[in-house]
Amino acid sequence: MVLNETKILENWLEGRKKVVITTHQKPDADALGSSLALANYLIKYGHDVLVISPTDYPSFLDWMPGSENVVIYSDTLKDQIKQSVITADLIFCLDFSSLNRIKEVGEFVKIAPGKKILIDHHMEPEQFADFSRWSTKAAATCELVFELMADMGRSEFIDQGIANCLYAGIMTDTGNFKHPNVTKNVFRICSELVEYGADTGYVARNIYDTNTVNRLHLLGYSLKEKLIVHPELEMAYIALTKKELNQFHYQTGDTEGIVNYALSIQGIRVAALFTDRNEMIKISFRSSGNYSVNQLARDHFNGGGHKNASGGQSNLTLEETVEKFIKVITETKY
Ligand code: 5GP
Ligand code: MN
Repeated sequence: MVLNETKILENWLEGRKKVVITTHQKPDADALGSSLALANYLIKYGHDVLVISPTDYPSFLDWMPGSENVVIYSDTLKDQIKQSVITADLIFCLDFSSLNRIKEVGEFVKIAPGKKILIDHHMEPEQFADFSRWSTKAAATCELVFELMADMGRSEFIDQGIANCLYAGIMTDTGNFKHPNVTKNVFRICSELVEYGADTGYVARNIYDTNTVNRLHLLGYSLKEKLIVHPELEMAYIALTKKELNQFHYQTGDTEGIVNYALSIQGIRVAALFTDRNEMIKISFRSSGNYSVNQLARDHFNGGGHKNASGGQSNLTLEETVEKFIKVITETKY
């Protein structure tokens, strides 16, 4: 079954093709890691590959090979990016399941005549792809990309750089092998990635030990001054204003991981982080056990993701968004 599907993809990849790879806005290690791993692999295959990111990404991903060639969407590059997308033979959509996750780039993907390939592990995917490798059982998109590379019978293309990118996505999307999405397959793939040269210490250091002092201060401030706990609702949250983010010279990626501290409190089953971004309030949700923050984000915050890790947004003020969250949590048990 899988092999037949892979054959279709192999046929599409016959000859030198124009390939676009794109991933969700504010890409994390799984999003950028899977995109760059696939890009480097397809370049070895002999294709022309362009990786497009809808926004900038955290600087702790700068070490990923090929990151210097990623095209980041901006109004000035809009026409050029549109042209690349609509003239591509193949468009790979990695680590997201609905086109609104790639912002303006989604409009181009929608109208593009090229073959669209979805590789993803988020819940309830939008139907826009001609081919998909999709499984919510996969801990990371990097896991699916690795399996695809293996099925395509070109494992020899997997070099140390590719192995590091794939390992990074699996390491972070499993919360350092801590979340319930860790399976035998995860360890098997990681062990194979080490065989392909993945340097696990190098990846971990680059991702976790590259904090700025400002980022640590923002974390300290968030935990000491902004953490609100509602034990009766088994819920905790942190809401950061624009002024507070500016005070700590916020840079993309600086708030990543903060929500996990709220979830780590004894007796807490659902946690949220609200940040006042320029265009909207961005929300990160986390939960444990059967509590579905995917459903919560879908029903009330125009978002989604996984059962225990999701995100969403709101056009209300920060205070109103928090109020809405508390009301929803009080009224409905997800
Ligand atoms: P994070 O809180 O780390 O930004 O995101 C947690 C998970 O939810 C990730 O898998 C991410 O891709 C997904 N996610 C974050 N924000 C959104 C959103 O606005 N919409 C959807 N559909 N998924 C999101
Ligand atoms: Mn992912």
